[in-house]
Amino acid sequence: MVNKYFMAVNGALLETQTGSAVVELSSAQLAEAEAVYAVGELENTLYSVVVLNEMGSQLYSPLNLRKLLGEATSEAEYIIFSRASQISVWHDQHRFCGRCGGVMEHHSVDLAKHCAACGLVQYPRISPCIIVLVTDGDRCLLARSPHFPPGRFSTLAGFIEAGETAEAAVHREIMEEVGIQVENVRYHQSQSWPFPHALMLGYFAEYAGGELAPDGVEIEEAHWYHRDHMPDLPPSFAISYALIEHFMLGKV
Ligand SMILES: [Zn+2]
Repeated sequence: MVNKYFMAVNGALLETQTGSAVVELSSAQLAEAEAVYAVGELENTLYSVVVLNEMGSQLYSPLNLRKLLGEATSEAEYIIFSRASQISVWHDQHRFCGRCGGVMEHHSVDLAKHCAACGLVQYPRISPCIIVLVTDGDRCLLARSPHFPPGRFSTLAGFIEAGETAEAAVHREIMEEVGIQVENVRYHQSQSWPFPHALMLGYFAEYAGGELAPDGVEIEEAHWYHRDHMPDLPPSFAISYALIEHFMLGKV
C-alpha cells in the first residue's frame, strides 16, 4: 500500500508548484502536521489529508476544487477528492467546542472531535440539499443564478430546512424560486458536493401549474427548454448535469 497525501491549510486544499493535488510525505514532515485524516483507498493507495501549519503550507498554492473534481476519472476518485476537501473544512471549522468553548480533540475511535471539558462530540458536517429537474413533456425547466458563468443554466436546488422532509423541500424551493407547483416528485440519485459540505439529493418532478416567476435573488432567469435544444449546461461531473442528461436521453 502506497500512502499519498492531500495538503490543506485553513480549510482549503493545496497543490504543488507543478499542479499536483497529492504528494508523498516523509514521517518527519507528517510529524510537523497539525492533523492527518485518512480519506480512502483506491488502487492500492491510501489517501489521507494532512493539515499543515501556516509555515508548512508556504511552498504550496490554493487548489481549484472544481477543476480537481472535473479531473476525477471515476466515481471512487471523485468521492476521495470530495471527502478530502470536506474533512479539511470540518477540521478548520471545529477547532473549539460550540457549547463551552474548550479546545476540540481527536476522538479516540470515530472520525470525530470531542471536547475534553464537556464531552460534546462533533462529526464532519453534512448539509442535505435537494436538486431537481422539473419536466413538462419534452421540455425541462432550467434556471440561472446570478453567480453562474454567463449563459449557463441548471437545475433548481436548495438546502433542506430543519424538520423538513426532502420531498417538502422540493415543493417549497421550486415555489420560492420560480413560483410554480410540481407533482410526481421522485428520487433519482445523490452526490456529495463539497461546496463546502453538501449532500445533493437528486429528484425529478413534473410541472403541475403556475406561471414562471423567478425570485430575482437566487434565480435571475428561468425558462423551459426542449430536450433537443439545451443552453450551456453545468460540468459533466455535477449531479445537475446527470439529471439533465437523463432527460435528454429520453429516460424521464
Ligand atoms: Zn465543550
